[in-house]
Amino acid sequence: MDLKLASRKNKKKTIVDVDGIKIGEELVVIGGPCAVESEEQTMKAARAVKAGGGKILRGGAFKPRTSPYSFQGLGLKGLRILEKAKQETGLPIISEVMDSRDVTWVAEYVDILQIGARNMQNFSLLKEIGKTKKPTMLKRGMYSTLKEWLNCAEYILSEGNPNVILCERGIRTFESYTRNTLDLSMIPSVKEVTHLPIIIDPSHGTGKLSLIEPMAKAAVAAGADGLMVEVHPDPKNAKSDQQQQMTPDQFKKFMKNVNALDNFING
Ligand code: PEP
Ligand code: MN
Repeated sequence: MDLKLASRKNKKKTIVDVDGIKIGEELVVIGGPCAVESEEQTMKAARAVKAGGGKILRGGAFKPRTSPYSFQGLGLKGLRILEKAKQETGLPIISEVMDSRDVTWVAEYVDILQIGARNMQNFSLLKEIGKTKKPTMLKRGMYSTLKEWLNCAEYILSEGNPNVILCERGIRTFESYTRNTLDLSMIPSVKEVTHLPIIIDPSHGTGKLSLIEPMAKAAVAAGADGLMVEVHPDPKNAKSDQQQQMTPDQFKKFMKNVNALDNFING
């Protein structure tokens, strides 16, 4: 696979430490809204994530949308709202950076930089992030192979940033019942070839509320290092991804069931 730094031959396991939360060591659940829409919406979601036992808060301030007329995110204002939510709840935050010109200043607001599926092979973005030491979650491109994905991780590692976390979020197939086809075979595959931790995103991976918990459980059973799910105080009126965001009550139940399975499997 032509991997040097990402190869399992070099290292057994990478543990990415985010404010004392060790990704790669224990099951870490990241929760929060698809997009930061307002302070009230984000604070409510953050409290729900905290109350349910989530460890990290997500929320997009820069949204990669199919249409230029769809909500693009609040940008800096969104990052400031996330910062406030972190102050109140103590949850570290993850948010997407879409443009290499924004890496340095966005890294000052977030604890983990997210590279979206649509930007997986944005090599100038990867190189810029590689120059920071910021923990970075690299989402798999929707048309990408494992080899292409890990080569993108290699770009970040080779610039000097060892804190890379992979995230499987589903790929495009002929199936249209689900939004994407969540490729859970990537969990053991990733573990065969690399030492980097892998998180599963069953929200974007399925696009359907009813499928999120079963796929999250399957991911835990297959050895995932973490999960990322979308949580919104009022999903029906969300500005994006209305079909796949859990309410606070649904998240609470989800966490109870996923934790029970995690305890059963991993002790
Ligand atoms: C996201 O997680 O906010 C997101 C946009 O997902 P993806 O890049 O996987 O489509
Ligand atoms: Mn989303």
